[in-house]
Amino acid sequence: MYQIVMNQRQFFNTHTTKNLVFRLEQLKKLEQIIKANEQALYDVIYKDFKKSAFETFTSELALVYHDLKEACQHLKTWGSAKRVGTNFLNFPAKSYIIPEPLGVCLVIGAWNYPYQLTLAPVVAAIAAGNTVIIKPSELSKGTSALMAKLINENFDANYLKVIEGGVSETTELLNQKFDKIFFTGSTQVGKIVYQAAAKNLTPVTLELGGKSPAFITEDCHLKMAVKRLIWAKFLNAGQTCIAPDYILVHQSIAKEFLTLAKAEILKEQFSLKNDNYVQIINDRNVTRLKQLLDPKKIFFGGKIEVENRYIEPTLLQNVTFEDAVMQEEIFGPILPVIAYDTLKNAIDKVNSLAKPLSCYVFTNNQSYKKEILNAISFGGGAINDAVMHITNTKLPFGGVGSSGMGAYHGETGFKCFTHYKSVLDKPTWLELPLKYYPHTAFKLKWIKQFMKF
Ligand code: NAD
Repeated sequence: MYQIVMNQRQFFNTHTTKNLVFRLEQLKKLEQIIKANEQALYDVIYKDFKKSAFETFTSELALVYHDLKEACQHLKTWGSAKRVGTNFLNFPAKSYIIPEPLGVCLVIGAWNYPYQLTLAPVVAAIAAGNTVIIKPSELSKGTSALMAKLINENFDANYLKVIEGGVSETTELLNQKFDKIFFTGSTQVGKIVYQAAAKNLTPVTLELGGKSPAFITEDCHLKMAVKRLIWAKFLNAGQTCIAPDYILVHQSIAKEFLTLAKAEILKEQFSLKNDNYVQIINDRNVTRLKQLLDPKKIFFGGKIEVENRYIEPTLLQNVTFEDAVMQEEIFGPILPVIAYDTLKNAIDKVNSLAKPLSCYVFTNNQSYKKEILNAISFGGGAINDAVMHITNTKLPFGGVGSSGMGAYHGETGFKCFTHYKSVLDKPTWLELPLKYYPHTAFKLKWIKQFMKF
């Protein structure tokens, strides 16, 4: 590992990656490779956990293509030095900010959206002019192997290199010195990454998880809320970091919500026969999810087929914050529904927990909306929708507190792999004597005059 990182550092030090034309060529090359291999990308992800081509395109490749397109379109603007104003004290200097790449970066991906979560940060890192070592998740082994093949066969290892593996390989990688680490995964592993990075003062972006609430107030458009929520929750069989983890619904409409949610699930036909319903990633997660199910609280669903890694979309009723299902991020197709009495009590409860990655508010009441947005700190979210905010690359995507630090997508992604170097550029034809010894009352008066203090 040491040698691979050293080789990338040597290549970075040639300054080749700083050239905007070079970066643009690499982005275009990556796009062509993905396009040429789309079918293979669909095939392996289907083998890994039955994710359909439709879902893989809409929830993975489309986001990568979008980031690629935006980076290619705006690279010149994002990557060029910008003039800023200069204070009077420095007259007649110029001031500018030069965006410069950070250097050798490490991108560690998660398995649930293996293409998007691994390649979108890579797009941002390339656009910003870095070299990258990429470590996809070992849990989606087909997609990891294919990404390794496509990148390692088409790019120079001194520039882009995929290293496959699990905990031991990642630990070895984290022992190396990087200029940036971009990690997507659990809060628990995020802490390990942060500690390893701290040893070298390496900046990190941590895209982590948590329990994202969805509020449903008594005045909302309930049918629409249910439709959008059920889609968002059971997309990827609930294995989505920004999936609504649990529902907080006003007690006056809790029963109606459950009835409509059940009808919506039946309409969408998330059965084993439905080829569009994704599998749970592995047996360990099936067992973990099974343990979160309290049979007494199942309103609908609950069927589990371990051999098929299938868990039926499940609605839980009368859930309390003390239940097992509320003690960890669910990351599966189980939706607990908690009825609240006052909005304030519901908000206070959410605020007593770790800061969520997302928060969703289904309401037609402007004051409820304002109250929630003002009171709860969360990474990102939506009003009267769920999950869809990730598709707008103008919105920085990232968590806060336990759900992460830093953000990416679009220009925010470019910024997260860039250092903005500030330069004051002064000619030599004029030098005011004010700052030099001897310090006199006269000079101080003039300095104050210049600084307008
Ligand atoms: P994970 O933390 O188990 O694994 C993520 C990566 O870390 C993998 O590449 C894995 O190989 C590596 N890893 C695992 N254990 C490690 C260790 N002890 N030391 C060093 N590296 C280690 O997470 P996961 O199961 O792949 O993904 C699920 C979690 O990720 C959920 O919490 C989910 O919310 C979160 N997630 C967040 C986002 C986001 O954008 N914020 C996106 C997807 C998933």
